[in-house]
Amino acid sequence: MKERARKIATSNGNEWRLADVPETSSLTTLRAAAAHCTACPLYKNATQTVFGEGRKGAALMLLGEQPGDREDLSGKPFVGPAGNILNRALEEAGIDRNAVYVTNAVKHFKWEARGKRRIHQKPSSRDLAACRPWLEAELRVVRPGVLVCLGATAAQAIFGSGFRVTRERGKLLRSQLAPRVVATVHPSSLLRQPDEESRRREYALFVEDLRVALDASRAE
Ligand code: SF4
Repeated sequence: MKERARKIATSNGNEWRLADVPETSSLTTLRAAAAHCTACPLYKNATQTVFGEGRKGAALMLLGEQPGDREDLSGKPFVGPAGNILNRALEEAGIDRNAVYVTNAVKHFKWEARGKRRIHQKPSSRDLAACRPWLEAELRVVRPGVLVCLGATAAQAIFGSGFRVTRERGKLLRSQLAPRVVATVHPSSLLRQPDEESRRREYALFVEDLRVALDASRAE
């Protein structure tokens, strides 16, 4: 009966359930449990669960969409090209990456094959719903001063599908899941800018948004 209540959807022989999260205040225990999660079909084609990294009580929690190709192979969040640009922006904003908690709304890499390449696929609302209990547990245990949503998927995981990063970026917001939230773009969007000038402009705005989050965390 309990299993039935936790089921989200079934399609093409696949099933989506709410992730089964242990009652614990230990990040190590959560990470170990998430390593065996099979609540949605994404684990089948991914190398491993990429759980969040950082410590309890971090002033900032950075929330991305899902691990990419490099993250899937290494088991660590934000270590690929987007991670490199994130590191540079954090440093420029005066934020020590080692002092923040970094995670994703979905913990397994969703991709499709194109030739020999694994191309990123956006997680569906079913994927996000199945994985949400892990994010809720991370927020409950880490209790960050400010949650920074990197990109639309992360922001919509917190505020719902009607949220628009373009309208709300860089503002200090409130949500039921985290008392203080700042939304900004995903660092991978900076890599997709068409020319150097827009890359520079978007990068500067991104750093500015990170500074808003840092200032808010200090004002606690
Ligand atoms: S994506 Fe999330 S819910 Fe789906 S199997 Fe991985 S950890 Fe579990």
